[in-house]
Amino acid sequence: MKLKYLLSLVLILLLSVSLSGEVLAGDFSTLRHDYHQLIKSSQLQSQRRNWEKLIDKFTYFTTHHPRDKNIEKGFFLLARTWDGLSKASGSRRDAGAAVNHYVDLADHFPRSYLADDALFAAAEIAEQQLHDRVMAYNFYLRLVKQIPRGDMVVAAQKNLDRLPVPAEKKPTQVKPRQQNYQAVGDAPRLVNIRYWSGPEYTRIVLDLTAPVVVKPNYIKGKDPRLYFDLLYTKLGTGLPATIPVRNGLVKQVRSSRFDDQRTRVVLDLNRVAEYTLSNLENPQRLVIDIKGQPQQMAVSTGPSGGRGVVAVADDSIAKILNNTSDRQSVLHVPQKRHDEGIHLIVVDAGHGGKDPGAIGPHKVYEKDVVLKMAHALARALRQQMGVKVLLTRSDDHYLQLRERTEYANRVGADLFISLHANATKNGKAYGVETYFLNLSKNNQAAEVAARENGTSLKEVGNLEGILFDLMANAKINESSRLAAEVQQALVSNLRAHYSRVKDLGVKQGPFHVLLGATMPSVLVESGFISNFREEKRLLSSNYQKRVAAAIVKGVQKYAATLDKVAKQ
Ligand SMILES: [Zn+2]
Repeated sequence: MKLKYLLSLVLILLLSVSLSGEVLAGDFSTLRHDYHQLIKSSQLQSQRRNWEKLIDKFTYFTTHHPRDKNIEKGFFLLARTWDGLSKASGSRRDAGAAVNHYVDLADHFPRSYLADDALFAAAEIAEQQLHDRVMAYNFYLRLVKQIPRGDMVVAAQKNLDRLPVPAEKKPTQVKPRQQNYQAVGDAPRLVNIRYWSGPEYTRIVLDLTAPVVVKPNYIKGKDPRLYFDLLYTKLGTGLPATIPVRNGLVKQVRSSRFDDQRTRVVLDLNRVAEYTLSNLENPQRLVIDIKGQPQQMAVSTGPSGGRGVVAVADDSIAKILNNTSDRQSVLHVPQKRHDEGIHLIVVDAGHGGKDPGAIGPHKVYEKDVVLKMAHALARALRQQMGVKVLLTRSDDHYLQLRERTEYANRVGADLFISLHANATKNGKAYGVETYFLNLSKNNQAAEVAARENGTSLKEVGNLEGILFDLMANAKINESSRLAAEVQQALVSNLRAHYSRVKDLGVKQGPFHVLLGATMPSVLVESGFISNFREEKRLLSSNYQKRVAAAIVKGVQKYAATLDKVAKQ
């Protein structure tokens, strides 16, 4: 016993040195310092693991400090580190990762002053290291479209002029090359049309090079259609004349030059529905939301098969929905329910793939623990509550934060539960806590939300107001009630089996992973993986099952209060 104790003490000392120094990264200035150390030393650069260590630290920083004021720089330096590694290793895989991380920044923070640098760097890697000129062209094109006032625009345009126009974008007539950015005196151009189907509305986005005057018209006859005349607007080249949507609500979107002064965009509808039109900038676009439920939509399989969810960036949703080979199961979108009951729950295992989450002193990864916990929770919810449960990921692969709630929205979930394990640098902290998203309508919260959403405040107040409306106070109240029930059940259930279960309570904040959820949603920190005792617990299937059982109990209690509210 004594010897074992002594040995483990030595182990503890050894591991805690590496833990505090390396695995759990410090604040941003420390990371930046580490980055510069590496960049200065060719000796350090020759070892792959030095790059990887730094990548781990930046990954930890970007996933665990989403509210840090240096978050954008964190994303940028993470991409930069991959970039550096790819040049040191000459590996295409590393170069691909660098591209993904640069684009990740531009996706998350389209308004950041780093977004254009990121897209430019991604384009350079695409051309020089991946020898993919089409990819490079598209990144430069995105840069000049998305960040027309950025300081990289001139350089990007030069490269666009130099690179061959990708085949599918070639204008059909012999004309000067496509130019999608706005030069002074040019008429605005409609350069792209995107769409996606949500459970409550279908969104059509018209990408423009400059603000336009729009005249909407509605023909509500047998073949209802909405059309929008964009005055003094030209049609961008390479835009398909017809884009099939076929989601039960919208048949197709057509665009054409109507006359010398007008471009007309027609939405052929299956039935008359309400719509809203918003004019947004940065990038300039018109957003048309058609309210009403599409008849059916495809989702990838949840818990049982393969990947939990395919990438769901705005544009790719369209592809996913239209691509029958990707279609593994078809879910009917639930009708708007009046009983307020709980029928479908989405369980989200935090992190995954290249993002390990927090790492414990014995190298236990958060992503692995919470995945097992998610499976246990899904089983327990199905068995004890008879509800349908879907997982955002059922195996070890990477998902962006926003994809998780987008998935929950898409399948029409009634609750969203995200599972995590906590960490601190010194490893002393322990206990369980439950978070819920709060977007109290004060400026500070909106600002944080804007930043974490990668959108502007104006957008938050404008179109993204749709999101805020869906996330109305009622949902926040429900989320806080759910969080309280889950937290209470966790503490009492775990205390029945374990000593030293600390109740860290219910907390609130605008968390990226919860943002955008249109249903009550909570984030559970099921213990501190950085703490020896709790790391061991988290690793054991008993603890995982007990956490799952406790959450089920919390959800049941929450559901019972819903019944009471409904019956009043
Ligand atoms: Zn986490």
